[in-house]
Amino acid sequence: MEKSNPTLDLSVVMPVYNEAGSLPALHAELTAVLGRLGRSYEILAVDDGSSDESLSVLRRLQAGDPHLRIVRFRRNFGQTAAFAAGFDHARGRVVVTIDADGQNDPADIPRLLKLMEEGDYDIVSGWRQNRKEPFLTRRLPSMVANRLISQTTGVRLHDYGCSLKAYRAEVVRNVHLYGELHRFIPALAGRMGVRVAEVGVNDRPRTYGRSKYGISRTIRVLLDLFTVTYLLSFSSRPMQLFGLIGLGLGGAGGAIGLYLAGAKIAHGLLGGAEGFRSYRIGTSPWLMLAVLLIVLGVQFIVLGLLAEVITRTYHEAQNKPIYAIREVIEPEEEV
Ligand code: UDP
Ligand code: MG
Repeated sequence: MEKSNPTLDLSVVMPVYNEAGSLPALHAELTAVLGRLGRSYEILAVDDGSSDESLSVLRRLQAGDPHLRIVRFRRNFGQTAAFAAGFDHARGRVVVTIDADGQNDPADIPRLLKLMEEGDYDIVSGWRQNRKEPFLTRRLPSMVANRLISQTTGVRLHDYGCSLKAYRAEVVRNVHLYGELHRFIPALAGRMGVRVAEVGVNDRPRTYGRSKYGISRTIRVLLDLFTVTYLLSFSSRPMQLFGLIGLGLGGAGGAIGLYLAGAKIAHGLLGGAEGFRSYRIGTSPWLMLAVLLIVLGVQFIVLGLLAEVITRTYHEAQNKPIYAIREVIEPEEEV
């Protein structure tokens, strides 16, 4: 999709799914905070197929606010899709994401932007202090997930799940979102070499409506972590992962097989034809293991080759560059 060039200072992207009750107060808060910043801005509400009054509430707010733009989905596509649509339509040089349920506090936005500018960061991530959600079903899984994601991706954040984050437009423009990967944006962008910082932000209880997610999200996030880890470390050289596993398994199988064959020959040398015949390896569980490992090893290597071909298609079909440029610095005067 063709992305518009930034013409504004700031875009606030807000996915909305059945949040009619929260929208008026949140919109008022956002407008007050953004107005005080004294910069050009837009609020991009992405209505993710809400079945309540959200759309009519947004339309009513829009009638009194030229900054409010609405992207309306045909059906519910999920929060990640809503973020992606928001990024595609954002016209700001900086994009701030925020939940529509009022849990994030708009009053934190100026601090995110200040740190981004002063520290020359590409992403400033909110880190929810004093979280209000239940410990066992929300905060504990989230703690584990943050540790795991930080360890495996190398982009260390305390709160991947916090929606309140600020990005430079070129960063979100270059990450391709699908599935439920929105919470991994800092990790995925980390591959481009972006500078990431964290700021403590306020967490408020939900006052209207209910959460759209249950405990099953934890499992989906963990599965996504496999995908992201693979994408980050091996997606451009899958053979180095699969080939290594294949060589390891096949090598182990080959070694066991050679040992069995060697032992049989040794018995033949020592005990003659009778010794050779009586030393049976055909019924040994080790032979079974050796054959299994060799077959597995071959399969992994073939899988690696297939993945290589698919990876090439992926990079070439999408014209994805294998590098990320921050800026090109031209000489002041043309030669
Ligand atoms: N959301 C969305 N589409 C969905 C689910 C959620 O746009 O299919 C929005 C929702 O309206 C809210 C944000 O994503 O603005 C976070 O959702 P929620 O508050 O339910 O998540 P939680 O805070 O409980 O993790
Ligand atoms: Mg919420």
